[in-house]
Amino acid sequence: WQRLTAGLKRTSSSIGTGITDLFTKRKFDAATLEELEDILIQADLGVAMAARVTEAIGKGRHDRAIDPDEVKGVLAREIEAVLVPVAKPLVVAADKKPFVILMVGVNGSGKTTTIGKLAAKYRAEGRSVMLAAGDTFRAAAVEQLKVWGTRTGATVVARDQGADAAGLAFDALQSARDTGTDVLIVDTAGRLQNKAGLMAELEKIVRVMRKMDAEAPHAVLLVLDATTGQNALNQAEIFGKTAGVTGLVMTKLDGTARGGILVALADKTGLPVHFIGVGEGVEDLEPFTARDFARAIAG
Ligand code: GDP
Repeated sequence: WQRLTAGLKRTSSSIGTGITDLFTKRKFDAATLEELEDILIQADLGVAMAARVTEAIGKGRHDRAIDPDEVKGVLAREIEAVLVPVAKPLVVAADKKPFVILMVGVNGSGKTTTIGKLAAKYRAEGRSVMLAAGDTFRAAAVEQLKVWGTRTGATVVARDQGADAAGLAFDALQSARDTGTDVLIVDTAGRLQNKAGLMAELEKIVRVMRKMDAEAPHAVLLVLDATTGQNALNQAEIFGKTAGVTGLVMTKLDGTARGGILVALADKTGLPVHFIGVGEGVEDLEPFTARDFARAIAG
């Protein structure tokens, strides 16, 4: 809870300060409601969500003084209601060996860091982990993954720069099977400059792995950078359509005052949210829960 509230501090203080300033010693009227709506839109909760919350708060409360904490309470409840259907833990099925997680997302979204955090988490749970360096174009990405491998005790499968990513994923799956590895996490490229090429590559990785295991990958996690605001919504749209995304990880929520973007995303896409990133450290990956997140950002 402490790490979560610390990580979401920028968003919660922007919403919280806004609400406190707005409702302290003031009557509650149409103008106040409009200002409240602005505060929520500023935090990237989305226009639809902001309107809904404002309406819920307005109901039956006109022309009386209202305590800021009451407003925050209603806000938290409204946010929670939107998040409950999408807050789903990522269950690593023990009968899938290896359990294959494909990681997708644009460069810089925090994909490699999230892979490292996940590897650390699963290793700490006593599982064996293999990482496949599927972003074969960026030497730095491969190097970064190797560093995470060493840090977490995960095996890393890599090829020369420019090698075929699907071939690498296939070999990694074979190797993970042969060695009885519990979890295989496959990194992928994120060059959105060549959208069609990238999507074709992701589809090929899936197709090739399915030749060996008809259910693989068991999870396709899209990593989204919260600091990119509305861009995150576009990326969810692009990857959601073609890459068969099964769940989301939103990173860098500690780096923005507009963490409401996660609520807008949930509201709009309905995609399950599994984890949130609230810092660069290996511990800074939090399982996503509707209630805690809602309470943490409502100020
Ligand atoms: P990739 O290109 O998608 O693999 O992105 P990286 O994993 O290399 O991350 C890009 C930058 O974002 C790095 O400097 C990371 O340390 C940073 N980063 C990743 N996740 C988080 C997070 O949750 N919070 C913060 N503050 N930084 C993060």
